[in-house]
Amino acid sequence: MNNVFVYCEIEGTTVAEVSQELLTKGRKLANQLGVDLNAVVAGTGIKNKVEDQILPYGVDKLFVFDAEGLFPYTSAPHTDILVNLFKEENPQIALLGATVIGRDLGPRVSSSLTSGLTADCTQLEIGDFDDKKSGKHYDNLLYQIRPAFGGNIVATIVNPDHRPQMATVRSGVMQKALYEGNAKGEVVYPDVAKYVPETDFVVKVIDRQVEAAKNNLKAAPIVVAGGYGVGSKENFDMLFQLAKELHGEVGASRAAVDAGWVDHDRQVGQTGVTVHPKVYIACGISGQIQHIAGMQDAGIIISINNDPEAPINKIADYVIVGNVEDVVPKMIKYYKQN
Ligand code: FAD
Repeated sequence: MNNVFVYCEIEGTTVAEVSQELLTKGRKLANQLGVDLNAVVAGTGIKNKVEDQILPYGVDKLFVFDAEGLFPYTSAPHTDILVNLFKEENPQIALLGATVIGRDLGPRVSSSLTSGLTADCTQLEIGDFDDKKSGKHYDNLLYQIRPAFGGNIVATIVNPDHRPQMATVRSGVMQKALYEGNAKGEVVYPDVAKYVPETDFVVKVIDRQVEAAKNNLKAAPIVVAGGYGVGSKENFDMLFQLAKELHGEVGASRAAVDAGWVDHDRQVGQTGVTVHPKVYIACGISGQIQHIAGMQDAGIIISINNDPEAPINKIADYVIVGNVEDVVPKMIKYYKQN
């Protein structure tokens, strides 16, 4: 009872990376609270195929719902499963990915349970809360932290009175890691019919096309990112050349994407992807909070900017003050020779 729960998303029999990231975070939260970490997964033909992708992240109890009609995802049966399971298990925290599925499923479950939900969190922590209005003190609440008001402030949201405390978290924000401690690792296969009425298998997916990712930005060890200071689509070619020499990928600020110089799937930041490369080379990027939100955990940050006072320079490990069009060709030449 009152455990931490993670909903694991799947593609066929492959567990989504965001779910493994959430399991890693969920394990840490469960340890802080002194409770178990539980996970739930639902699909078709997944028995004995998904357990090894979930349990090593420190799961104490895994609920595997396996039945025809549970994959591809449709709203009604997955909502039934979570709502009925959470009524039985009464978790204090429930986490989902802020994916297409999580954004559909999370609000349905939270409204059925009247629990509330914080979408698109960038951080989750445990902390106490003093409600100044009621004078009540609450121990060990989930701090659900996310940018708010167009990214101008970072809001910490708590849910003192309703359970579970539900949050969705975007892919790539948390880092996944196998758990080195001991977890119970129990697996149960509930009878799906007890959770989902036959009438709720209403939608039949008859055709489905999954678009493959066009780039490897999320996993790239080196990201060469360009901003409005790059100046043109043609100048972006230099960044692609540099990224190629460094075996990295090209990222971009929203200003560069809005200018039409690169595709949106390369946008880094609050409304783009979150990256954790070993090296992030920011070329002509000023470093507004919405951009920083997507790359601040990079190992080494190098800024190339003609303004020594650019905000990104404050978080950069190395700053090259100069024009992108002068500096980047020299770097390409250097790496070609070495
Ligand atoms: P600018 O701020 O215009 O900076 C250009 C930089 O280039 C400057 O520092 C300048 O000194 C430098 N420069 C100019 N010429 C050269 C040159 N020749 N050589 C070297 N340096 C040069 N932004 C994101 O990036 N990602 C997001 O996900 C995102 N989400 C947002 C969500 C919301 C709700 C809002 C309101 C905004 C969001 N933004 C996002 C936009 C963000 O606020 C900034 O507008 C954007 O990041 C600025 O991009 P930039 O740094 O490329 O451009």
